[in-house]
Amino acid sequence: MAAQGTVFGAMLQEFEGAAKILNLDKGLWKMLTHPKRQITVSCPVQLDNGEIEVFTGYRVQYNVTLGPAKGGIRYHPGVTLDEVTALAAWMTWKCAVAQLPFGGGKGGVICDPTKMSRRELEALTRRYTAEIIDAIGPDKDVPAPDVNTNAQVMAWFSDTYSMHVGHTSTAVVTGKPIEMGGSLGRREATGRGVMIAARESARHLGFDLKGATVAVQGYGNVGAIAAELLAAQGASVVGVSDVNGGVYNARGLDMAALAAHVAQHQTVREFAGGDPLATDELFGLDVDILIPAALENQITAENASRIRARLLVEGANGPTTPAAHRALHDRGVFIVPDILANAGGVTVSYFEWVQNRHGYFWSERDVNERLEAKMVQAFDAVLQTAQRHQVDMRTAAYIVAISRVATVTKMRGMYA
Ligand code: NAD
Repeated sequence: MAAQGTVFGAMLQEFEGAAKILNLDKGLWKMLTHPKRQITVSCPVQLDNGEIEVFTGYRVQYNVTLGPAKGGIRYHPGVTLDEVTALAAWMTWKCAVAQLPFGGGKGGVICDPTKMSRRELEALTRRYTAEIIDAIGPDKDVPAPDVNTNAQVMAWFSDTYSMHVGHTSTAVVTGKPIEMGGSLGRREATGRGVMIAARESARHLGFDLKGATVAVQGYGNVGAIAAELLAAQGASVVGVSDVNGGVYNARGLDMAALAAHVAQHQTVREFAGGDPLATDELFGLDVDILIPAALENQITAENASRIRARLLVEGANGPTTPAAHRALHDRGVFIVPDILANAGGVTVSYFEWVQNRHGYFWSERDVNERLEAKMVQAFDAVLQTAQRHQVDMRTAAYIVAISRVATVTKMRGMYA
């Protein structure tokens, strides 16, 4: 069992609440709370200055009962095996909630990509791929982008894998550039799913997105698209932040101008269309909807009391600690958990994998319509479960996910 206070420990606490309600069999409980496989690799890379650096990388396949492991690769100085394991577990529950034929996996490399050249990043990506190559593949484990990795990193990953197996394999990763088998709509998918989750929640809570105020922590792939799409629905995005700072405008930020500023300066800081906002002020804004879309453990018992939003939609994975979740839920805040709210990304990753395996590509409209249907279906299943068991949405999402994985685990039986 993981120690209290770890990211995996937080996942276990969430799991426990649902498993108790399900009266989960003891053996299944053990099976579903242990990662299937944790791989640690050392990746030597020759830096541009000629020195050799050795980077530690991980790939965790948490559970593959429903299908190949699926989950992103994160490049960050703060990556730990505990964090990657928790993220791989969350991928397991997320795929189950979204009813995708995938298990859960996650990868991470301890590095600071902001201090690395493009050549160094390519070398690191290729070596990391080569080190975990036996464990990955379209039927085994299918990585994707996560924090600080993108379509270019997936292109290098796919190329390295293809060179090793001797043929071009597109379905080994998702989130690839469109030209090499990526899916239309994938880049926007997580943010689009967050918008759909917010829209469905607002409908359930009885308020209109039109005119609703929104604050977004983390203006990256997920946060920026969620903000843009919510604004397109008529919401007013009044505050956004990134690691360098934030910006606030009570009348609503001009999304197009903000995107242009970020394209030029790589940060929302000093955007002329609003007032400066300290990163820790964002959570205290008087808004209807708060979207944490940066990293885990951002909303804690300490800062939860400052939150004034009535709806919290978790764009990031694990942004709310269990203690903060309890405090907010007790105050009546409606929380859409990560494993539901940000499932749009892996859903379109699944669509990408399907298109790669068929060699036939869908239009963006097709992708978005299918995503819409999947997200609404998942949202409804979780909401109905929450109402049936009189529990919060997070516990309900775990109940849905654990039941699906446990059912198949029992059907498959024990291989010994
Ligand atoms: P990203 O690297 O594109 O963006 C992260 C953003 O968060 C950046 O703007 C960064 O500056 C900001 N940030 C970091 N620390 C911050 C802090 N302390 N305060 C304010 N802002 C901070 O990453 P992403 O792909 O958008 O992922 C964000 C989160 O969403 C992660 O938790 C990730 O696991 C999760 N997620 C991503 C996807 C996806 O498809 N990209 C899918 C599901 C979940």
